[in-house]
Amino acid sequence: MSSIRRPAMLVLVLGAALFMLNACAPPEAGEAPEAAEEATVEATELTPAAATPVAGDFETDTHRFEEVADGVYFVTYTVPMFNSNSMVVINEDDVLVVDSHITPATGRQLIDSIRQVTDKPITTVVNTHFHYDHAHGNQVFGPIQIVGHEHTRMRMAGTPHEEPTWASYTAGQRNGLERLEAALGEAEDEAGRAEIEARIESLKGQIAANAEVVPTPPNTTFNERITLVRGDREIQVIFCGRAHTGGDVVIYLPADRIAFTGDMMLGGPSFLGDGHVDEWPETLENLKALDIELILPGHGPGITDLQLIDHVQAFYRDLWSQVVALRAEGKDIGETTAAVDLSAHAENFGRPVGTNAQAVGRMFYLLDERGE
Ligand SMILES: [Zn+2]
Repeated sequence: MSSIRRPAMLVLVLGAALFMLNACAPPEAGEAPEAAEEATVEATELTPAAATPVAGDFETDTHRFEEVADGVYFVTYTVPMFNSNSMVVINEDDVLVVDSHITPATGRQLIDSIRQVTDKPITTVVNTHFHYDHAHGNQVFGPIQIVGHEHTRMRMAGTPHEEPTWASYTAGQRNGLERLEAALGEAEDEAGRAEIEARIESLKGQIAANAEVVPTPPNTTFNERITLVRGDREIQVIFCGRAHTGGDVVIYLPADRIAFTGDMMLGGPSFLGDGHVDEWPETLENLKALDIELILPGHGPGITDLQLIDHVQAFYRDLWSQVVALRAEGKDIGETTAAVDLSAHAENFGRPVGTNAQAVGRMFYLLDERGE
């Protein structure tokens, strides 16, 4: 099955299911159990499957599919360009995709790759958050159910082309192209020239692919949690609190003890430009309350060492308290960025981890917003 080694299941699934009822966004006091059922959306008008799914890991020209549970694939992009991971869940009658990639073109490659393992209809896309690298492939999946947090819909339906993350990414590509074109004139030999030309071609292709993007927000939204029942599979989509954005959701497969966490839990610190560093550790505490043995992050490899969550929490707590203290001393964003010392966390991640002015600026913004 998978090369991701998972520890033996120690907790009975029934116990786990009962336990997780208390985890993340618990029902309000007095809320009837039926409320959960009302939030349940079942696939309708499915076409029967025609192909027999191929079990196990496989690779296509563009993707690696790692089968982490029966019909559940951790999908990574193998083309050397920036993109996010996806999860593909092949159910009895349909397919659910978590995160749709960075552009319509890469989204189509994902669909083509899925077609190599199944021709069951793709009925549902779930977006972990609104960031372009996870959600700008939505449009190619056609008029289907797109599930996401209300915050995700709000950010994608507002002025998505003005989102700072997207704007700075596309500006960075344009600047990169200018730099490469300048470097081409100064290339010293044929080999160097050919390499730069290849990078220019690749970057031009990515810029052209951006032009096709029509941000397509979720059409099924929620604030706390939604349960999707597909055949005998239960797929829980849970808001554990604000973290990497104001609307990160975890896609939790309780029977398999797997959680796809998008960018709220990576193998180290995440991008903080839209983050809520002050609330993040608590959000991760709610993630820890789920019965999980494997985390599939939005970038990087799968995580079985769940102690990493503690390390990420410690990093954000330390970062936040240092920034709060330095700001209270009257330091500005630049001075604070220079003074923050996160070297103690390198040991936990096996590599140096730090911060930057963008992240610190975001934390200043949060503190300003609070009037602190
Ligand atoms: Zn993100």
